[in-house]
Amino acid sequence: MKYKKLLPILTASLFYQLNSCDSSSSSSSSSSSDTDTDTDTDTDTDTTPTLSPAFADFTGNVSASLSGNNVVITTDGLPDHTSPYWSTTHPLYVAPTVTTTAAMAPGTIDNFNGSYSLTVSASPELAAGSSATGLGAIGIAVSGAVIYNDEEGPNVPLDNAVPSLDYTGAHTGPQSYHYHLEPVAWSTNDSALIGIMADGFFIYGRLDHDGSTPTDLDESGGHFGPTIHNSEGEYHYHIQNDAYLGSYYIIFPGDYQGTPNNIQ
Ligand SMILES: [Zn+2]
Ligand SMILES: [Zn+2]
Repeated sequence: MKYKKLLPILTASLFYQLNSCDSSSSSSSSSSSDTDTDTDTDTDTDTTPTLSPAFADFTGNVSASLSGNNVVITTDGLPDHTSPYWSTTHPLYVAPTVTTTAAMAPGTIDNFNGSYSLTVSASPELAAGSSATGLGAIGIAVSGAVIYNDEEGPNVPLDNAVPSLDYTGAHTGPQSYHYHLEPVAWSTNDSALIGIMADGFFIYGRLDHDGSTPTDLDESGGHFGPTIHNSEGEYHYHIQNDAYLGSYYIIFPGDYQGTPNNIQ
């Protein structure tokens, strides 16, 4: 929606391209395992898709499989952690703490019979320009539930919905249980994997793999660098590290820097 500064995008693209060159030249000298299953002897252009090890962090409700050069990710939308939004008889039900029964949104997690699918490139690239996120699912979290942006509805700011959010920054909505804020059920100011965004880039907690606070993030909270899953580095997002209403952290209030596909 907003006009974006061009410089961070160009800088990010440049880093990406530089690193791409570096990694392809280094892989040509250490790609013996690649060539075992690939008759293409030109290792510089070897683009055999592989499934990122990051997918191992997703719960069993989520499946990820290669389809050509793409990864198809599917989930039933149900989180693997406790919440007051489960029905009271569900084993993962807990009483509300940061929200109250009166303030909670209608519906329980187990009311939903969801099915979500996202197809992204196995090796996503930065787009020429950024693009705005929309209402609804913008990413799939490692828990199995989905990630929303910083709006609660058309022209409805998230502030209006904060009282209904559970301890892990999520609530039910018309279609699903979804996160708006840092999901402290499994990540609090750390480097844990949060999920995968609709443009195929992974999003991590507020800190980098070594526990440091990233200082070179672009306007979407992304940068090129190592992650807990990729020591060579790749473009990835972080949860935005700006306190929201004093004590919360919005997962992804910015724009996509890659090319998003629909989560449907
Ligand atoms: Zn919501
Ligand atoms: Zn990082």
